[in-house]
Amino acid sequence: MTNNKCPHCGGAYAGLICDYCGALVGKTDTVEQQRRALDELHRLIVNSPWEKQLLLIKSGYLPDDANLLIDAGLKCISLINDAEVRSGRSDAAQGRLEAVITKLQLRPRDQETSKALQLFRERLDKSARAKAHDTRLGLGLFAVIFVTIIILVMYFSRK
Ligand SMILES: [Zn+2]
Repeated sequence: MTNNKCPHCGGAYAGLICDYCGALVGKTDTVEQQRRALDELHRLIVNSPWEKQLLLIKSGYLPDDANLLIDAGLKCISLINDAEVRSGRSDAAQGRLEAVITKLQLRPRDQETSKALQLFRERLDKSARAKAHDTRLGLGLFAVIFVTIIILVMYFSRK
């Protein structure tokens, strides 16, 4: 069954999702098939090495069904970790969550969708605040080192 080739990347696949790039390669006519594809993608993500996880998160399949989109967003939140903002994976997961929000906004708005959209936006805001805090911390540290160097240079040049 490995002679199937992904039309996006040429990689081999056996299920509904390309094992290499995470793109949809099977048919998802029913909600049940969409759920299987989403589960397959997330199983792939957790079982992949770091670099491949990034690719899978970035180009991974997003379902059309509203409930499954919410599910995809919730799964995505579990991949966001503000403590590792520079690792790339958290950034990739935030990008995917933004894509979920964009797609979810096109759906008819019910209470569940509105609640999920609010939750997802709050999660992204929290990451943005953590990142801004990190940047301020970094700039502060840089300023302290810079001033220390100036003081040392002045001190030694007087001798
Ligand atoms: Zn592929």
